[in-house]
Amino acid sequence: MIGAAQARTVGILGAGQLGRMLALAGHPLGIRCRFLDPGEDPSAGAVGECLRAPYADPAAIARLAEGLDVATFEFENVPVAAAEALAARVAVHPRPAALAAKQDRLDEKRFLRGLGVPTAPFAEVSSRAGLDAAVAQIGLPAVLKTRRDGYDGKGQAVLRVSADLDRAWAALGALPLILEGFIPFERECSLLAVRGHDGAIRCWPLTENVHRAGILHRSIAPATGAAALTASAERHARAVLEALDYVGVLAIEFFVHAGGLLANEMAPRVHNSGHWTQDGAVTSQFENHLRAICGLPLGDTAVRGAAAMINLVGTIPDPAAILAVPGAKLHLYGKSPRPGRKVGHVNLCADTVAGLGDSIARIEGLL
Ligand code: AMP
Repeated sequence: MIGAAQARTVGILGAGQLGRMLALAGHPLGIRCRFLDPGEDPSAGAVGECLRAPYADPAAIARLAEGLDVATFEFENVPVAAAEALAARVAVHPRPAALAAKQDRLDEKRFLRGLGVPTAPFAEVSSRAGLDAAVAQIGLPAVLKTRRDGYDGKGQAVLRVSADLDRAWAALGALPLILEGFIPFERECSLLAVRGHDGAIRCWPLTENVHRAGILHRSIAPATGAAALTASAERHARAVLEALDYVGVLAIEFFVHAGGLLANEMAPRVHNSGHWTQDGAVTSQFENHLRAICGLPLGDTAVRGAAAMINLVGTIPDPAAILAVPGAKLHLYGKSPRPGRKVGHVNLCADTVAGLGDSIARIEGLL
């Protein structure tokens, strides 16, 4: 039994499914999680104490901070000021500066480029004339995106012909925007990495991701062609982790294009494309995030053979049918289903990527 001296309490800004899975991973290690979230009935409320208040509420931040060993966040659009207010009371990892670097797509791309991490070509857009100038610079097709608060493909428009510009401007022009060159990628991949207090870095195998309607549908690890791409992906992750003096798990999403990697975005937190690590890696992203922020040694990030993750979006198929698929592990978030909402995922493991094919087909047949 873990004595009180070894028990730790971790505060988490946000109480969605990522917080829930952090708390579940922390339990066997004697780590308790306390959450702050403005939402009604958040996913993590079932597995830890949850304070319901706006992130910007100073009294709520003070209550969250009481008796904590360390704090973190599981939602990247937490106001930076709230993370900073918490950091004035207790160590917050990753540092709030990592949130700030991520929340604006333009700053994020400039930050990545500044570290030598390649990205799609991009330009700032702040007026209708500015959109014409950006298109003249970058060419078509291109993707117009809101700089802030976009996720799961929201706040984006693909521009293919010049007639698309007016329509996209009408939809998005009220907000600060970025125009990116459209990358006809071969595949999408992500790298999950973790850095400890001592600067030790470990990376999980490169993961291959398929999106549907802008939402992650499926991840497979290791990714096709991982052998040729891993060294550069890990170099890019190391550059970001060290520049931010980062502690915890970081995800970087890449396009595989012309044989190389272009970074699309980063997430300063545990990430949906790392959920397979719960059942397919020696140490999950959730456990290693907690180990890192608590100053514990990091665990092995190797994949046991091959693993896949399939998101359950909008509806939950019959759990008995899912569990009848050999090797399937079901993870539900306790959220009521609604269109476009992530309500759970299924992890699948096999000795090889080829060996995952049948179970992937069976799970996808249930969606
Ligand atoms: P994001 O919100 O930036 O992650 O974009 C969601 C998805 O839209 C990505 O996973 C890609 O599938 C697609 N996408 C985003 N940006 C681009 C781009 N510049 N070129 C091609 N596809 C893109």
